[in-house]
Amino acid sequence: MFSLRDRVALVTGGSRGIGRAISVTLARAGAFVAVNYRGNAKAAEQTLAEIREAGGDGVLLPFDVSDPEAVDAAISAFVKERGRLDILVNNAGIALDQLLMRVRPEEISRTFEANVAGAIYCAKAAIRPMMRQKYGRIIQISSVVAETGNPGQVVYSASKAALLGMTRTLAREYASRGITVNAVTPGFIETDMTDALPEAAREGILRTTPVGRIGRPEEVAAAVLFLASDEAGYVTGQTLGVNGGMHV
Ligand code: NAP
Repeated sequence: MFSLRDRVALVTGGSRGIGRAISVTLARAGAFVAVNYRGNAKAAEQTLAEIREAGGDGVLLPFDVSDPEAVDAAISAFVKERGRLDILVNNAGIALDQLLMRVRPEEISRTFEANVAGAIYCAKAAIRPMMRQKYGRIIQISSVVAETGNPGQVVYSASKAALLGMTRTLAREYASRGITVNAVTPGFIETDMTDALPEAAREGILRTTPVGRIGRPEEVAAAVLFLASDEAGYVTGQTLGVNGGMHV
């Protein structure tokens, strides 16, 4: 449906979960996909194998999104090699389940470094080639908890809400350059991140999900594919919820 033929994409945190599904979906639509990850090379190789099984192509691009020098070096080298970068999906992220009373300062910095600063570093490195091309798509993977709040996730929800402010600001800064910037806010999606939740918490989430089931990573990837497409050129600064009705 949406063709990404001749497009070059970078998906941060593409080794597992939602990032893997996004990587495979974009590659199936025709994009060459750089699959970023931090340490799990085996999982990233599995993503690349799935990309190839789907008839697509890509490459592994390991770096820690919270290290600005590593981000800049890896993205610059990748762009030099491929000649362009059309789509950046800021998906890499870490969860922090902690009540306000127990949150430690180092947990706040670690979460914000990965979830917020990481997205800004990647956008900063990607924006130069996108401006040269007069074309770009930046898609941020935020979370429904940025919109609804969630007890026990003060730091995580604040970091995901920061991505929405970043999305709106960059949308305004770069619209005139042919670059769109949008966010997707997933609800409860079946991945390693949510596997860690206790059964009682899972049941609680399901009770507040009108669709009545957990989401699949591919359902988030479908929203990203739309926002990454040429057809979404008049959509910018927006937040697209993929949450089974948790936030309406
Ligand atoms: P996941 O299964 O835990 O996978 C996280 C991915 O991010 C992995 O590929 C991991 O790489 C990578 N990563 C983490 N820190 C990184 C860093 N500093 N630098 C580079 N890569 C890093 O997570 P997920 O559930 O798929 O979530 C993906 C995104 O969706 C996250 O931003 C998350 O906050 C958001 N989200 C998830 C849900 C959900 O229900 N699952 C809901 C709303 C939003 P390694 O494999 O190398 O560790």
